[in-house]
Amino acid sequence: MNLRKFIKKIGVIFKQAKAIAIYPEGTQTTSKPFVLIEYTGRDFPGKKENVEYDYLINATGPKLNFEATPGLGPDKNSLSVCSASHSKQAAQELKKTIENMKKGKNAVFLVGTGHGQATCHGAAFEYVFNLDFVLKKEKVKDKAKIVFITNEYELGDFGMAGAHIKKGGYITHTKTFTESLFAERNVSWIRRAHIYKVESNKAYYETLYGSTHEIEFDFAMLIPPFAGVGLKAYNKTGEDITGNLFTSNGFMKVDADYTQKPYEEWKAADWPKTYQNPTYKNIFAAGIAFAPPHAISKPMYSPNKTPIFPAPPRTGMPSAIIGRNWRSMCSFYRSQSFFWHCCFYNSISYCA
Ligand SMILES: Cc1cc2nc3c(=O)[nH]c(=O)nc-3n(C[C@H](O)[C@H](O)[C@H](O)COP(=O)(O)OP(=O)(O)OC[C@H]3O[C@@H](n4cnc5c(N)ncnc54)[C@H](O)[C@@H]3O)c2cc1C
Repeated sequence: MNLRKFIKKIGVIFKQAKAIAIYPEGTQTTSKPFVLIEYTGRDFPGKKENVEYDYLINATGPKLNFEATPGLGPDKNSLSVCSASHSKQAAQELKKTIENMKKGKNAVFLVGTGHGQATCHGAAFEYVFNLDFVLKKEKVKDKAKIVFITNEYELGDFGMAGAHIKKGGYITHTKTFTESLFAERNVSWIRRAHIYKVESNKAYYETLYGSTHEIEFDFAMLIPPFAGVGLKAYNKTGEDITGNLFTSNGFMKVDADYTQKPYEEWKAADWPKTYQNPTYKNIFAAGIAFAPPHAISKPMYSPNKTPIFPAPPRTGMPSAIIGRNWRSMCSFYRSQSFFWHCCFYNSISYCA
């Protein structure tokens, strides 16, 4: 899709750039808040600019935090499908593996979460089914062993203690549903696991019971944990206030209740309503960029104190819902004849 063309049509100024730092109070020479950006497109690569705003929406999504597990990631020893280039690379590697299988080689496929606190199980789950489909289509399934490795307590809990599916007149828990689908496809699974190291063709993992194991693979597609993209923030005097706007893992603080409390006291009301930063009310975070107040899965630790429970599921749904809410906000402000700028720095665009 030609984003530039589409965005122009709806009256938005598009700047292909990355946000580097937020100055929510401006500086000593300007009282207007702004974002420091650096152009990334072909037009002015490397050029920096301050983009002033009245309202700021941070929709920068996740940083794929491969560094959390030594050896994890497409630059190292495992593959990913978390971006277009990663998917392309994974597809090329899969093709090569299938060619070897056609020459008579067996192959072990390891698919799942690459860390005890990773989320986005759906992507790994979908990948298993796509893999099964392709291996059958290429007539090499008999030479494949597929192993799903997950930090979930139960297979199919998706980091939210599972769900119930109503199908064919029956209500089935996702644990039963997922186990049945995997068993039908001869996919084996390892649950309650934290991968702590990946080497070329070998992954090392610890289980919730504290035991450590190794598994050899020919092909591994492992989802990394997520972090915020690492934006910085400075106050008027140039002092670093990143901690006021972001949590330590880089996600933006919003109107959630971040008080540390036991799992038994977690409630739905802890979650944000307006996604507004409590200190700077004209700053919002959308989609994955906002900091959740806590996990949804019950926190669980191995005897070695290793956390092995998924981070909150980060689906496309928050982006859609938050976007819809803001569309109504947008209409409200326009109808109130507010002069308004909205700097939407998901690849920096801004509308006036
Ligand atoms: C393989 C896969 C399958 C998935 N399947 C599903 C599914 O079936 N259903 C579902 O609901 N969800 C699914 N998800 C999750 C879903 O894709 C994400 O939750 C959703 O895309 C997050 O949207 P977002 O807008 O918060 O972030 P993103 O979609 O990641 O968008 C963030 C944007 O910000 C840009 N950006 C990053 N840093 C900066 C910066 N400093 N300055 C400016 N721009 C920046 C990025 O380039 C990107 O364009 C899947 C994810 C994967 C990886």
